[in-house]
Amino acid sequence: MFIEPYSSSDKKGWIEVICGSMFSGKTEELIRRLKRATIANQRVEIFKPMIDKRYHAENVVSHNANSIPSTPIESATSILLLATDVDVVGIDEAQFFDVELPEVCEQLARKGIRVIIAGLDKDFSGKPFGCLPQLLAIGDYITKLHAICVVCGDLATHSFRKGSSDNKILLGEKDTYEARCRACYYKGLAEKKR
Ligand code: ZN
Repeated sequence: MFIEPYSSSDKKGWIEVICGSMFSGKTEELIRRLKRATIANQRVEIFKPMIDKRYHAENVVSHNANSIPSTPIESATSILLLATDVDVVGIDEAQFFDVELPEVCEQLARKGIRVIIAGLDKDFSGKPFGCLPQLLAIGDYITKLHAICVVCGDLATHSFRKGSSDNKILLGEKDTYEARCRACYYKGLAEKKR
């Protein structure tokens, strides 16, 4: 489990990235860290891309309905305007943000803010998703979470999309996606092509 680094009284920022496949518990982990900071009376702001309207519009909600209030925004640079007077910035569904997000996180960290980002590292075609590769490169602390493969029970690293849509941004839950290990993921793709 991630333990917050000790930070001396002079304010130093850093970047944490929580990544993994769908159903790996990324949002739960983000919420856990943010709630700990809130309990310690730190000022916390949470942002998510406007695109994710699956659940409540203004809450970061994980699949297990644990939630925390958040601000939906259209572009990453809005975070710089909105995150004033904060100690911690949380960002959920980072893969859907625009290319400015890594630079925004970098600027926040340089201002002494702790930045915690959660996002899908790979899209349904198994390719790196959005600016996650850049975020993983600039992050100081990386946590890669795994789900359980629904086919064989091994650790899952891939998000397998059932059905035939090839829209990169197809939001959904268990009816649309499955967590799978690499072997079962590619076996599934081969079966789809048949
Ligand atoms: Zn498997």
